[in-house]
Amino acid sequence: MSEQVFREMEQQGHEQVIFNYDKKTGLKAIIAIHDTTLGPALGGCRMMDYESDDDALTDVLRLSKGMTYKCGVSGVDYGGGKTVMIGDPEQKNEGMFRALGRFVQTMRGRYYTGTDVGTSPDDFIHSMRETDCIVGRPVEFGGGGSTAITTAYGVWQGLKASAKAKYGTDSLSGKKVAVQGLGKVGQLLVKHLIEDEGAEVVATDISKDAIEELKSKYSQIETCEPDQIYEVDCDIFSPNALGAVINDFTIEKLKCDIVAGSANNQLQEDKHGDILFEKGILYAPDYVINAGGLIQAADEVKEFNHDRVMKTTARIYEILLDIFKISEEKRVPTYQAANILVEDRLDTVAEVRKNFLVEEKK
Ligand code: NAD
Repeated sequence: MSEQVFREMEQQGHEQVIFNYDKKTGLKAIIAIHDTTLGPALGGCRMMDYESDDDALTDVLRLSKGMTYKCGVSGVDYGGGKTVMIGDPEQKNEGMFRALGRFVQTMRGRYYTGTDVGTSPDDFIHSMRETDCIVGRPVEFGGGGSTAITTAYGVWQGLKASAKAKYGTDSLSGKKVAVQGLGKVGQLLVKHLIEDEGAEVVATDISKDAIEELKSKYSQIETCEPDQIYEVDCDIFSPNALGAVINDFTIEKLKCDIVAGSANNQLQEDKHGDILFEKGILYAPDYVINAGGLIQAADEVKEFNHDRVMKTTARIYEILLDIFKISEEKRVPTYQAANILVEDRLDTVAEVRKNFLVEEKK
């Protein structure tokens, strides 16, 4: 594995990979730090029953690199990092998360972590007894509460920016938006669309309860079966449920001008971003438009401030307009334009920091 680790680190640009093992609790965790040009690394801890240690390594390298881009584009002063814990989440225990906390604390503020797939805020209450470097904390532990509110707000701003780029106005009044997924984010997004914008919404969810709940609030709302949402003739398709929804099967069905929503990893492969670009469908890159939750988590490192979080999240609007401009000028798909923006920011900050300081700002 050691040869593979260094080869991968070289290819993907990682700084550091740390293997953590605790015999008593059974903790097996890998922390990957991708890039700390902008500040300490930030990224959640995923727990999965990986088929092999190599699979876990591949995942943590991929996810930590993704965090560099997500932090970089959202304007926060953090770099990319991630942890994977190898094991069945059903088997997790207090000791594992305390052990993880102690390992994180050895990094002395170079890395902050919190929840991801397979872990919950309650797990990290155990870690917090051993480390100061946990974000996404429960409210009673200084956290900011549900990130869905911030995420939905950022997605709403992202839809407005996309409309501005496509139609010349950011008003969504009368625009038809097909919303896939009425969970924590989807429900709040629909509220913004209907109450703040006067948009027309067609919604779907695999949960009949979620649909009923929405209909009880907004009787005028149109709904459809989950597999029909791709074919809805609309202005904006908004994925807020699953990843990989823009794929070989769905892309031909889309009858929209814009794809913009909260779901992670919407493009099954990069080529699907290329196809959207060729078709003239404007794609708001997922990791940009859904950055509200990350912005909230990052804010907890200092001291959570709701107004500051909302103000920073509102910037998603301007950031997306910059990305759309780069895409147009360089004639590249928007997911590539977002990468260009991040890489430029990293280069600028690295250059600025060449100036020697007797003492770095805390
Ligand atoms: P959630 O689990 O609360 O809601 C997801 C909803 O999608 C559920 O109601 C589920 O029934 C529905 N769904 C699942 N499969 C579906 C399908 N095939 N068709 C239609 N509906 C389907 O999740 P959430 O917190 O609302 O997040 C939504 C998406 O945004 C997820 O992809 C999540 O990873 C992403 N995201 C969320 C946040 C956040 O702060 N919550 C931040 C960034 C990204």
